[in-house]
Amino acid sequence: MSRTTTFTPTQPHVTLVGAGPGDPELLTLKAVKAIASATVLLVDDLVSDGVTAHASSTARIVYVGKRGGCQSTPQAFIEKLMVQEALAGEHVVRLKGGDPFIFGRGGEEVAYLQSHGIAVTVINGITAGLAGVTSLGVPLTHRDHAHGVVFVTGHAKQDAHNRIDWVGLARTAAQAKLTLVIYMGVKGAADLQQALLQGLAADMPVAIVQNASLPNQRHAVCTLSELHSTLKREALASPSVMVIGDVLQGLLALQAPAQKQAVS
Ligand code: SAH
Repeated sequence: MSRTTTFTPTQPHVTLVGAGPGDPELLTLKAVKAIASATVLLVDDLVSDGVTAHASSTARIVYVGKRGGCQSTPQAFIEKLMVQEALAGEHVVRLKGGDPFIFGRGGEEVAYLQSHGIAVTVINGITAGLAGVTSLGVPLTHRDHAHGVVFVTGHAKQDAHNRIDWVGLARTAAQAKLTLVIYMGVKGAADLQQALLQGLAADMPVAIVQNASLPNQRHAVCTLSELHSTLKREALASPSVMVIGDVLQGLLALQAPAQKQAVS
């Protein structure tokens, strides 16, 4: 647990808890303890029921994600609610999918809470990109194939300052032997594929893992030039991570040429 702010027991306080990729057994012990002691839980979209099952029966659980296809709760509302409940003396736990500080606005929430005098504790969770490839038996940084790994969003704010230079990233990944793990990339996969092919080989292996660690996990393995067609053919959708890199060579080679496609 990284203590973002030191706090006294009387100070209003919120705990940001990483709920992991879905499988409740991947929760940390600290996460389970925090969830069990919460009086109010604000729960994100991708947090599974097996995780919230650790909450006390008297706790108030507020779902703030897009469950059931509804609009997600505005971020500003979530932040205000956390402050309000913490100031009212509640033990507030904010449950976020994966790790609170890997995408998902954990940093913004900490800054907002601290600016309102609320102490914050952050408990790590296993991020989806890590769980996804591990479930396929693939190490992200096998030293024969990769010197490092890049977690990158396929859905960055699209203003001029935030635009991701995918061609540059692909070239760097090829030169420096980096595995790319792309979150939130399924929707824009056709464009991503086109840009990445300008820096990475067409036969670079790719794995797409949907619902990593959950009973309904599915995945497909293909080459970079087949990424978009494979996603469409296998109807792989969000939440998925896309992993690109030589560390997947063995997995790709295992597949007969005719079936470089989905394996559940
Ligand atoms: N904080 C989260 C990421 C939030 S962004 C984490 O550390 O995992 C949401 C994106 O995470 C999704 O669009 C998807 O790309 C990925 N994701 C979350 N849960 C997933 C899962 N169980 N399987 C595959 N991808 C997942």
